[in-house]
Amino acid sequence: MSDFQAPLHEECGVFGIYDKAGTEDVAAAAYSALYALQHRGQESCGIAVNVDGVITGHRDLGLVNEVFTPAVLGSLPAGGKMATGHVRYATSGSRTRANAQPMVVRHCKGTIALCHNGNLTNAAALRHELEMQGAIFHGSSDTEVICYLVTRARLQTASIEAAISNTMDLLDGAYSLVIMSPAKLIAARDPHGFRPLCIGTLPGGGYVFASESCALDAVGAEFLRDVAPGEIVIADYNGLRSMKDHCGTAKSTMCVFEFIYFARPDSTIEGSSVHEARKQAGRFLAMEHPVEADVVIGVPDSGLDAALGYSQQSGIPYGIGFIKNKYIGRTFIQGSQKQRENSVRIKLNAVKSTVEGKRVVLIDDSIVRGTTSARIIKLLRDAGAKEVHFRVSAPPFKYPCYFGTDIPDQKLLVATGRTVEEIRQVLGADSLGYLSTEHVVKLAQKSKCGFCTGCFTGRYPVDPPPQEPEDLHERPLHESEKKKVL
Ligand code: SF4
Repeated sequence: MSDFQAPLHEECGVFGIYDKAGTEDVAAAAYSALYALQHRGQESCGIAVNVDGVITGHRDLGLVNEVFTPAVLGSLPAGGKMATGHVRYATSGSRTRANAQPMVVRHCKGTIALCHNGNLTNAAALRHELEMQGAIFHGSSDTEVICYLVTRARLQTASIEAAISNTMDLLDGAYSLVIMSPAKLIAARDPHGFRPLCIGTLPGGGYVFASESCALDAVGAEFLRDVAPGEIVIADYNGLRSMKDHCGTAKSTMCVFEFIYFARPDSTIEGSSVHEARKQAGRFLAMEHPVEADVVIGVPDSGLDAALGYSQQSGIPYGIGFIKNKYIGRTFIQGSQKQRENSVRIKLNAVKSTVEGKRVVLIDDSIVRGTTSARIIKLLRDAGAKEVHFRVSAPPFKYPCYFGTDIPDQKLLVATGRTVEEIRQVLGADSLGYLSTEHVVKLAQKSKCGFCTGCFTGRYPVDPPPQEPEDLHERPLHESEKKKVL
């Protein structure tokens, strides 16, 4: 797939810090952590800070460094012991400020700030039910539904964690949550454990929750463990405790694509290093699809680890086949058609000395539409590669994801309705090999969890929503509705 055009998007990254000693600048820590989690969402971000039970925050559209300028970061209240932070890519609900997180909600027993990664599969039904009971929503995300359910449950429960537990009885699908109340920081993960969530300890006493361990490293926290699927973990003045009522109520099905593409290679998820898992994907690929070649190269960045693994297993030397232009940000304007066609060439250039006259094994983590892969293969041919053997460290994408990954419409996927040979012809490669679904679930060799492979197999651990519901709030009136009193 590469990072160069229409990549798949992960929905979000979540973070929370409880600094018992009060020696940390918790807003600054959240800022550093969000920087480390930026790869999980680039559309909006936010930080909420808790100073003596008073929760305030800032959220907006943009990258972490765009939203949190020195002035904005400096305006967050000082002296807090808790903070939460969030980076978002919208897969549920539109790209508006109202859907940015943390969502700060005031209710009759205080305030909560809530951060969510994942997608609920029953959000539309829950929302409809709430609206029929008079609920009013500001945005269109499923996160607001969770907020509403937690605050409503809080009316009947003795604690915020009990309200979260009651809410979890109603939720289907994927959610890793970090919730801050006036006195507690709470992490919760859905019983399938679709999205990662881990716990770290602070050197001065206190705890950190984050989507990935790379965010713990960013704030100097030590990795403690993952939050178990279905677990609720509470950090407060008394330390850390856990509620396991929902643990074991569903089969563990972590998103395998976290290991293939989403997560940072320096993160450890469910006990397995992401970097090692990607190298293992390369080794499996070399076993499944061997080829006579002179050099193995990877598409930066997420194809590099698998290329290393392929090289180690096959004995074919590893080479640097591409240089990525580090200075192209989101603002690169692809004005004309010609510019759009050249965009891959501008972002990525082949290293002629590595590939000229060689039989090249090219590794990437996945193919989505196929257009970028075809251009990358052409780049190699233009640089003099004699043969290009394309190996993909994931099975073909054929089906949508309902759990927080933005996979384009099925009809846009190159693998839809095509055999591997037909895809090879579309891409213009000399040979093409995908990693098998049998091997993809064995990448994370130290992980004891199960894996979701729904987008490759069409078999989902949770029933998909019956039909994508039309969002009443985000469509113009139909002709027949214009004359009605709505
Ligand atoms: S369908 Fe694919 S992307 Fe979605 S959770 Fe499952 S493995 Fe991950």
